Amino acid sequence: MNANIQNIQKQFTQPGTNDALKIISLGSFGEVTQNMFVYEFAPQGNFSKSQIIIVDCGVGFPEEDEFGVDLQIPDTTYLEDKKDRIQAIIITHGHEDHIGAIRFVLPILGQNIPIYAPKLATAFIQERLIEAGQKARINTYDRSSIIKLDNFYIKPVAVNHSIPDTFHLSIKTSLGVFYHGSDFKFDFFPIDGKHADYEAISRIGNDENVVCLLSDCLGSDHEGFSPSEASIAQNFEYEIKTGKGRVFVTSISSNILRWKQAIEYGKRNGRKVVVVGFSVDKAIKIAQELGYIKLNKEDIVPIERIKNFRDNQLIFLVAGFAGQPTSALSKIVMGKHRIKISKGDKVIFSSPDYIPGTTSGIYKMIDNLAKMGAEVTYGKDEAIHVSGHGYQKDHALLISLLRPKYILPIGGNYRHIKAYQLMCQQLGRSDDQFILPEPDEVVTFRHNRFDTNSKISLRKVLIDGFGIGDVGATVLRDRRTLAEDGMFSVVLLVDTAQGKLIKEPVLLSRGFVFAKENQELLNLLKSEIMEKFREYVGKPMNVEFVRQKIQGHLEESIFKHTGRQPMILPLLIEV
Ligand SMILES: [Zn+2]
Repeated sequence: MNANIQNIQKQFTQPGTNDALKIISLGSFGEVTQNMFVYEFAPQGNFSKSQIIIVDCGVGFPEEDEFGVDLQIPDTTYLEDKKDRIQAIIITHGHEDHIGAIRFVLPILGQNIPIYAPKLATAFIQERLIEAGQKARINTYDRSSIIKLDNFYIKPVAVNHSIPDTFHLSIKTSLGVFYHGSDFKFDFFPIDGKHADYEAISRIGNDENVVCLLSDCLGSDHEGFSPSEASIAQNFEYEIKTGKGRVFVTSISSNILRWKQAIEYGKRNGRKVVVVGFSVDKAIKIAQELGYIKLNKEDIVPIERIKNFRDNQLIFLVAGFAGQPTSALSKIVMGKHRIKISKGDKVIFSSPDYIPGTTSGIYKMIDNLAKMGAEVTYGKDEAIHVSGHGYQKDHALLISLLRPKYILPIGGNYRHIKAYQLMCQQLGRSDDQFILPEPDEVVTFRHNRFDTNSKISLRKVLIDGFGIGDVGATVLRDRRTLAEDGMFSVVLLVDTAQGKLIKEPVLLSRGFVFAKENQELLNLLKSEIMEKFREYVGKPMNVEFVRQKIQGHLEESIFKHTGRQPMILPLLIEV
C-alpha cells in the first residue's frame, strides 16, 4: 500500500463528527428494476453542502396495463437543484435495469458527470450513447481500481452474476463503510474462471466498520446456494444435441456466457451459428471484441444464407425471450419475420420466466410456439437456466463475511424482502438491525444511528417510443380504452355554409368487432347521426359544438346497444 492511499485511509477512519449520509432510491425501494441509488454525504450534517454519488442508472419495465409504454425510468427530480454536487455515476454491471436510463438521465443531470463502469458495461453504455447521439465521460474500472471522490473512497469488489464484470461497491465515508451489494451470486465453478473476490469481502468485514449492507434479495426465497452457471452445461448441451431440426436458443441478450455455451454446444454437435435480432447481435459483437467469445467467420451463417444448410446444421441465437413486441422472437411468432418456425424445430428458453412486467408475455410466446408445432423447452427446475441472483446461502455467506451493523435489502419485491428478513433472523440478527424503508423514504445515517423520517416525492416517469418525457394519465387511459374496447370513428363531410352533410357518414372501426356481424346496428347509427346532425346544426355552423354533440350521442347509443365503450372520434371535414 503506498503512502498516499494510507493517508486517504487515515482520513476516513477518523471517528465521524456530525457528518451525515442519506441513501435514496430514485427508482423506489422495493423494486427489482430501475436501479438508481443516491448516496448523499453531508459534512457536519450540512446538506446544503452535500456531495453526491449515484450508483446505477437503470430502466424499469412498465406494468402490463400501461399500453404502448416502452420503459420506465427513475425520477431524478430530487437531484434537480443539486446537479453541481453530483460527483459521479458508478455502475455495478451492464444489465439494462442498471445502465439503461443513462441516455435519458444524462441530458437532464449534465453530460459532464463522470461515469465509472466495468469493462463490459462500458461497452454497452457507449453503444447506447452512440445510438442516442450522446457523449459521456466514462472511466473503466476493474478489480484493482479504487475510486476516490472527495469524501467517498470506493473499492469495487468482483462478484458473479448473469453477466460478466459485475461488481459490488464498498463505499467508505467518515461514518464507516456502506457496502452496495447489487445483483450478485457466488459461483464457485464459474465457467469463465473468474471467481468473486472473497478475499476483498472478508478484508472489508475484518478491517472496516461496515455500517450498512445494501443487498440484492431477489433470490432469497430459495434455499441453499444459487447453482453454478456450469451446472446447466450437461442439460443445455443435451437439449441442443437432441434437436432433430433447427434449434433456436433465446436468453437475456446481455448474458454472453450463456451464448458462449450455446455456441460451443452447437458447434460440437455440427451446427453453425445464426444470430437473429439486433440486441443479441450487438452483445455478441461486443463480447467478441472484448475477448469473451471466440467465434470464427466460418462458424457463422448470415440469415440470407441459411437456405444453403440443412435444418440440423444450424443453431439460431434469438433475441427477445421476454416477448418484447419489437423483438426478433416476437416477430417470428407473429409471422412477421423472414425466419419461420414450424414442426420439427426446437426452441430453448434458457432464460428467466420472471421479470416484473414481462411474465405473461413470455408464456404467451411459449404457447404460440407450441401451437406452431415447435418443441419448446423452458426453464424448469434449473435444468437449462440458472439465476444470476444469490440464494439464501450466498446471502448468509456475504453477511457473515461483512458483519454489517445494519442491513437494507434492495432489488426485490416485498415477498423477496420478507424472505430475506426471515433468513437474517435465522442468522441471529435482530429486526432493529433491518432497514425496511417505504418506496419513497430517505434513509439518513448519522454517527451510530439511522432514521427514515423524511420522504421525497417520486413520480412514475414513462418513456414512450423514442420520446423522452412522461406519458400522462389521460394518454394511458386512452390506450386502455383502445385496448379493451377498440376505436370507432365517423367521418362527416360538411358544407359549413349551408349547414348540411355532403355525403352519407362513413363509419370506421378498429378492434370494435361488431362491424361485420352487425350491419343493422351500423345502419341504425348512420341514420341516427344524420338525424342528430340536422338537429344540432345552426347558422352559422359551430363545427366543434356539432362534433361534441355527435360524439356524446354515439357514446350513449353504442353503449346502449353493445355495452361497450370504444374510443369515439368524430371527424368533421369542412368542404
Ligand atoms: Zn443484474
